[in-house]
Amino acid sequence: VETPPEMDSFDELDLSPIMRRAVKDAGFTTPSPIQAALIPHALNGKDVIGQARTGTGKTAAFSIPILEQLDSLEDCRDPQAIVIVPTRELADQVAAEAERLARGVPTEIAVLSGGKNMNRQLRQLENGTQLVVGTPGRVHDHLQRGTLRTNNVWCVVLDEADRMLDIGFRPQIERIMRKCPRNRQTLLLSATLPPVVRRLAESYMHEPVVIDCCRDEMAVDTIEQRYFTIAQDDKVRLLESLLKREKPEQAIIFCRTKRGTDRLHRKLSHEYGSACGAIHGDLQQRERDRVLQKLRDGNLKFLVATDVVGRGIDISTISHIVNFDVPQDCDDYVHRVGRTGRMGRDGVAYTFVVPGEGDILTSIEQRINKLLIRDKMDGFES
Ligand code: ADP
Ligand code: MG
Repeated sequence: VETPPEMDSFDELDLSPIMRRAVKDAGFTTPSPIQAALIPHALNGKDVIGQARTGTGKTAAFSIPILEQLDSLEDCRDPQAIVIVPTRELADQVAAEAERLARGVPTEIAVLSGGKNMNRQLRQLENGTQLVVGTPGRVHDHLQRGTLRTNNVWCVVLDEADRMLDIGFRPQIERIMRKCPRNRQTLLLSATLPPVVRRLAESYMHEPVVIDCCRDEMAVDTIEQRYFTIAQDDKVRLLESLLKREKPEQAIIFCRTKRGTDRLHRKLSHEYGSACGAIHGDLQQRERDRVLQKLRDGNLKFLVATDVVGRGIDISTISHIVNFDVPQDCDDYVHRVGRTGRMGRDGVAYTFVVPGEGDILTSIEQRINKLLIRDKMDGFES
């Protein structure tokens, strides 16, 4: 297991002048630890398992070496690299970041994700594609149809790798991996990589370099993490008081279920109207895209959400996270909370704990190796 080297400038990485320019134009001056550690190995063709905290630039860490090594469309019309991510929104975001870093070199990037126009995807693949970013279901679908050719794929990335390899996605991921050439490069990234996932991952890889930028501290230390003990029936009232007290710039409020998300959204809408939105997996993709775009544009103050936006989503203006319902497991907690405090910014995360959920709180604290601060609000029993 490697720890990241100290690096002050992107000039210390072996990048082409055009990539240096793109990185600079993106506003990046210093490589983050995962970028400093991963980029040289990736440029050397190594397989890498990389763990680094939320919001520390993992997307650019795998995108830069891929973009540096893509053959031009004249030389190869079939995809050369495939990045797989767990959600449609994340696929769009990763493609946009790659697009930004590809500036200056025409690069054909196809987003293959569910809920989106199939014909457009077919046309893109037909016209020639260098890089694919997609979700497991749709990428697999294109493989089955024979519309995604993998003979020339030299790199596969599993972003949010632990999510990609959990039981729900594993069959599709395994079939995608088997279809790609054996001597390809494989890069795995996440903020959370439990040992069993690492062991499983190694079976897809060839002597991977393991980079750990987290050591024991999984949660980002610029995020203040607090909790309230609260009766289930008082949660809405507490949330309303908390939003008044905190006046977040923008907040994501996580609920456990889709119905619970809709219900809380309706309640908050009485007070906040269109400044409050909701997102979950039962909404039409067009609505999901619309709501997330509103949040990115700063036209939404509060987003009530399921874990569908728990991973990967990068919006620097999100100042607050509220776990209105405690997350299902400790790693989900790390990812939800990581939607704030991006790239060294400050953030605050609140978790509502009902009596009887104390064990979950304890296991979260053990996982992040840190105690949550107990908070109190006047007018509420605790
Ligand atoms: P992660 O995947 O680790 O959660 P992201 O890849 O989403 O993090 O990056 C978080 C934010 O930091 C993005 O807005 C990205 O553009 C920005 N970023 C990436 N690398 C750098 C860098 N070296 N310097 C400054 N900002 C960066
Ligand atoms: Mg990410």
